[in-house]
Amino acid sequence: MVTIFMLSDDILLFFSHLHCLGCTPKYHIVYLVIPPPMSTQTKYVYVFSSSKTEGEASMKNLLGGKGANLAEMCRLGIVVPPGFTITTEACTEYTQKGKKHVLNLIKAEVQQSVALIESEMGKKFGDNADPLLLSVRSGARASMPGMMDTILNLGINDEAVEGLARKTGNERFAWDSYRRFVQMYGDVVMGLKPVSKEDHDPFEVIIDMLKAEKRVKLDTDLEADDLRELVQRFKALIRARLGRDFPTDPWEQLWGSVMAVFESWNNDRARVYRELNEIPESWGTAVNVQAMVFGNLGNSSATGVAFTRDAGTGEDLFNGEFLVNAQGEDVVAGIRTPQQITLEGSHRWAQLACISEEERRSQYPSLEEIMPEVYQQLVHAETTLENHYKDMQDVEFTIQEGKLWMLQTRNGKRTGAAMVRIAMEMLRQGMIDEKTALMRVGPDRLDELLHPIFDTEALKDARVLARGLPASPGAATGQIVFFADEAEEWAKKGHSVILVRLETSPEDLRGMSVAKGILTARGGMTSHAAVVARGMGKCCVSGAGAIHVDYKNHTMTIEGQTWHEGDWISLNGSTGEVYEGQITTMEAALSGDFGELMQLADKYRRMEVRANADTPEEAAIARKFGATGIGLCRTEHMFFEGERIIAVREMILADDETGRRKALAKLLPMQRGDFEGLFREMNGLPVTIRLLDPPLHEFVPQDEDNQQAMAREMKVSLGKIKMRVEELHEFNPMMGHRGCRLGITYPEITEMQTRAIIEAALNMKVKGMDVRAEIMVPLVGTVREFNAQAEVISRTAESVFAERGERIQFLIGTMIETPRAALIADSVGKQAEFFSFGTNDLTQLTLGFSRDDAGKFLPHYLKKGIYERDPFQSIDQQGVGLLVQMAVQKGRAVRKDIELGICGEHGGDPASVEFFHRTGLDYVSCSPFRVPIARLAATQAAIRELK
Ligand code: ADP
Ligand code: MG
Ligand code: MG
Repeated sequence: MVTIFMLSDDILLFFSHLHCLGCTPKYHIVYLVIPPPMSTQTKYVYVFSSSKTEGEASMKNLLGGKGANLAEMCRLGIVVPPGFTITTEACTEYTQKGKKHVLNLIKAEVQQSVALIESEMGKKFGDNADPLLLSVRSGARASMPGMMDTILNLGINDEAVEGLARKTGNERFAWDSYRRFVQMYGDVVMGLKPVSKEDHDPFEVIIDMLKAEKRVKLDTDLEADDLRELVQRFKALIRARLGRDFPTDPWEQLWGSVMAVFESWNNDRARVYRELNEIPESWGTAVNVQAMVFGNLGNSSATGVAFTRDAGTGEDLFNGEFLVNAQGEDVVAGIRTPQQITLEGSHRWAQLACISEEERRSQYPSLEEIMPEVYQQLVHAETTLENHYKDMQDVEFTIQEGKLWMLQTRNGKRTGAAMVRIAMEMLRQGMIDEKTALMRVGPDRLDELLHPIFDTEALKDARVLARGLPASPGAATGQIVFFADEAEEWAKKGHSVILVRLETSPEDLRGMSVAKGILTARGGMTSHAAVVARGMGKCCVSGAGAIHVDYKNHTMTIEGQTWHEGDWISLNGSTGEVYEGQITTMEAALSGDFGELMQLADKYRRMEVRANADTPEEAAIARKFGATGIGLCRTEHMFFEGERIIAVREMILADDETGRRKALAKLLPMQRGDFEGLFREMNGLPVTIRLLDPPLHEFVPQDEDNQQAMAREMKVSLGKIKMRVEELHEFNPMMGHRGCRLGITYPEITEMQTRAIIEAALNMKVKGMDVRAEIMVPLVGTVREFNAQAEVISRTAESVFAERGERIQFLIGTMIETPRAALIADSVGKQAEFFSFGTNDLTQLTLGFSRDDAGKFLPHYLKKGIYERDPFQSIDQQGVGLLVQMAVQKGRAVRKDIELGICGEHGGDPASVEFFHRTGLDYVSCSPFRVPIARLAATQAAIRELK
């Protein structure tokens, strides 16, 4: 029996009564000390300040990127307004258990931390005479620019605003701060939303009304009394629309804001961004609460954003923008034209914007010129940060009455071109090693460097309509639309669109992602449009001031000339030029840093990268991009060109083998010529040629007009053609008479193709070329199928060798693209010299999804998370991938040196490439333009394996 007494909150006293038969009971006294609650409870709040900092950069998962880096900056001795971070774990608690629960968890810690800020800043939160104001900022693990809502100037109310005015001697500033707070809080926390399209932003509508009443143009023209008036009107609107009063108690404001940040993790635009960037929902966001510093306290105050290197080109040049007498969001919102931080940048900007040196110096001077000391401090901070993080930093700062405060640092988003250049330059500068440089470049982002640029010839005649800032490089041509939802609609219908806006906001994200390019009339290099476009690798021209956008009439006007929705324009995101009409584009080249990076990549790469190419021209591009062979040549593509289709149709129409052979004989020299071209281009490298694969109905016209034309051309009756087309009709052609089934029923096709390949190989050998032909049998499901085709191939090759009196080495292999072939890969492997996984068909047949019909349901599947990624884009590793792994093992078990590759679309998808590397394939094969992407992805897979 045990008796327990409670001595105090944390000490329990146990009496255990041990009864032994026949003896006196003994009392054992046991003290059990319960540790204080703090150490067993989870810590939800981490402070950062000059005197005490609990977090650090490595704690991004817990503190979010912003919070972890704020803490790290404090540790580096960089001046940061003091504050604290509420962890992402608290956000998860909020999502799961709600407001009350999380408030209980964090309340005491938050109160203690606010006290720390108070002592550092020498002001009290809620002190009406000299109020401490706070900002509340969200910050997830991965940076989500503009996604989550920030609240500035929190802690202000009708009394505190007077105190602030007296204390700073700046009444306008105090009321401007109050006005901003009511606006942000009303929107973000209280949820005041537009009621109609005209009411796009209810607070801005009120501001516009007051400006009209006062006959002033700019927000900055409004005086203290006007701002006071705005605050009253804002509050009245909130009361009228929401039936609630604006909260006056600073603590109520604080809790409201913290919860709103948690809540905003689930708002629409955050969801869209997560979707686009594959950020899991479970991560949650942290909340940063921080003392306010004021960039709007007059002309010795400012706020800005800077990059340690050029985010567009990658040039190692410190650059950025700032606004004098402004508060944070003003720069990003693109409302005023910002000034350049460095003198160099300012000169370049003026040149692009066609602004004279005179005007530049008087109206848009650089920070370097007007605040040289602060500028030096900023350069010092910027250098310290880049050297510390060893990556390009994107920093936010505010200058309050001549004192510099850093507000944020993170690895800056950049274009594909900048990724490459920064990685290679940092490598040369000795900041990072080769492997780090290679890991710095997202393989998919190389796409931007491979994509077309404007044809220089076509550009000569192009008319420049306007100039803006080169916000995100590339060339884009498309039809004008003015609204994001319209961009989506038009794009869905297959149009190329350019989204033209005054400025963009996070609501426009989906529209931006489907547009070919983005053009804004306002905003700088760090405006929302610019930052997001660079992140997407999308062409963007921002701040083209000559453009007047009329949303109501869906038009834009430049110097009196009007363009309508649907008109064509072209953008050059590298120069900032806007052109009239459609301009043709041309291929990019693989040179400079890009070329060097790719060479370096080959040093660490194990897998080979081949290309899917059907013509000598494609083969040449593939080789230029570094392909080490052709992994798939689809011979049927050669059947469509010019005269050939006539011979192909003759073969299809033939009544018997003799007729077919006659037609095939006409095709032979043409096919041989094609193969000669391929072997010449790929001299010394393997060329894998697949025998005829598609169902024959693909070669005959399905509509009557074309059937009539075919009848005339071939001098047969329309009736005969109709009958044959009818005969060729299949209910499910994908699983019908195709692949090796064609070669089995018409061996003469296989004979002709083999003859063309072998003769071409011998012809090229005579010319001194090193030919490495691989003949591939498609869609095999049984060993006998393969054997039957292999027999035809060998026999034909032997007779060509006998005719020519010369031999050549070549391989006979098969595609593994039916699940059955994968299952019996050991018996197939005994016969076939190589396997090439045809993951397109293998995916279709394994999942039972027809790729051509999957569009009807796959989007829903992806949305519901039934499949995480489109299995036709990124290989289904658990299912289809398992078949691949199994076939690899079985194949190697029976033939040690069996050559293993993959030639489906997946060969150009970085995640799939990584999987194939791990599976132990010898090569992947993808479209010529994806070759560099696959090369880098294969390298990264190898480097990851080393770690
Ligand atoms: P985002 O994640 O969208 O960049 P931030 O939390 O960085 O949002 O806030 C947006 C802007 O608000 C910042 O760039 C900064 O200029 C301003 N800001 C945030 N906190 C403060 C602060 N404590 N003092 C002054 N300005 C701030
Ligand atoms: Mg920021
Ligand atoms: Mg196939």
